[in-house]
Amino acid sequence: MALRLPAILADHRPASGMAALVGARLFDGTGSGVGGPVTVVLRDGRIERVQDVAEPVPADVPGLDLAGRYLMPGLVDVHTHLSILEHVDSFPRPEHGAEPLLPNLTGHIVAQTLRRSLRMGVTTVRDVGAYGDTVLEARQAMRYEVFAGPRLYACGRIVSATAPGGRFFDGMYREADGPDDLRRAVREQFRRGADFIKLMTTGARSVEIEDPDPAQLTPPEVAAVVDEAHRLGYRVAAHCEGLAGSELAILAGADSIEHGMYLHRRPDLLDAMARQGQVLVPTLTFLHAVAENGTWTPELVEQGKFNVEEAHETLQAAHRAGVTIALGQDGPAPERAADELVRLIEHGLPSTDALRAATLGGAVALGAEDLLGTVRPGRWADLVVLDADPVQQPHALQDPDRIRLVLRNGVPVAGADLDPPHLGI
Ligand SMILES: [Zn+2]
Repeated sequence: MALRLPAILADHRPASGMAALVGARLFDGTGSGVGGPVTVVLRDGRIERVQDVAEPVPADVPGLDLAGRYLMPGLVDVHTHLSILEHVDSFPRPEHGAEPLLPNLTGHIVAQTLRRSLRMGVTTVRDVGAYGDTVLEARQAMRYEVFAGPRLYACGRIVSATAPGGRFFDGMYREADGPDDLRRAVREQFRRGADFIKLMTTGARSVEIEDPDPAQLTPPEVAAVVDEAHRLGYRVAAHCEGLAGSELAILAGADSIEHGMYLHRRPDLLDAMARQGQVLVPTLTFLHAVAENGTWTPELVEQGKFNVEEAHETLQAAHRAGVTIALGQDGPAPERAADELVRLIEHGLPSTDALRAATLGGAVALGAEDLLGTVRPGRWADLVVLDADPVQQPHALQDPDRIRLVLRNGVPVAGADLDPPHLGI
């Protein structure tokens, strides 16, 4: 029996009946270029078939004319932290003397972020570590149609050794030590409603007293986490910076390696990832942020600049080795997922491969490639209609005016064509 993931149980209500998207130029998510024009036939919220535009559609099937427009799968952002709100541009910063912020304000801001993400063509998000239950509450709100947003995978707390990060991100980590305690920490996350496990194998580059090496966990501890999650049918996303922790996670069978910026120094590990189907999530946006946004300690900025260079080399090497790459911007704003898409291209991925990372790559990271990430029969109709060719003009995905329509499970939910008209006053 298929695992009943909370993210799927809370998913958007699918469209009912049939519909046809007629005459679109198609980027299908597989990494081949834009083709078509095609007609995409939907049934009950899923893609039923993709056919040549010349083939007729039954007269009783409602059609939407997309001639001159481009169609692609919705974006998938697999590395976000929705509840780290201090980095959100719109987060209120009261003046001295203003009423202090109330604790539940955060839920409203997370909901706003999710709505904006959907508007920007992001149809699936994986939150890789959160404070409180805000993310789980947002997911439940979407289940009951309080608002519409992306499909939302959550991990609850980040499983970590007792480590400085647990103090720097107080409340976001479940610290555990020894294989039995780690196994319990894993079980607690599923009790809470996690869809996968996020594991820290190393320290974080945003914590001044954590170094990339050595690994923070022992081999039996990592093995216990991966074994318990996999035994129960769930996947593991491993935060890996230094090579010792990266090696531990890769050899233990973690499903995705988050960051992994030094891996170009270990081509054997990249080969192992390609062979074992493990996904790399390079998170270039946040690597750049630490190096460039002027808010970090001088030591972290220096390390951050080095990390950007290392991540560049690793992206190239991973691509050459055939490792599946997925998009994750590693900030609180998946509405800016396309920034990471552009980063992937700036760091040398061909735009077709960067778009593949933003769609199918994310689906593979989630273990959901049979359900999303491509425009193929059987997949959910999570689709984006653009008025620009995403391969030739990937920047169009940063521009809300170019994102004409977003569908979730076949339902048109957002896009410039659905925005209220401007009155011009
Ligand atoms: Zn992260």
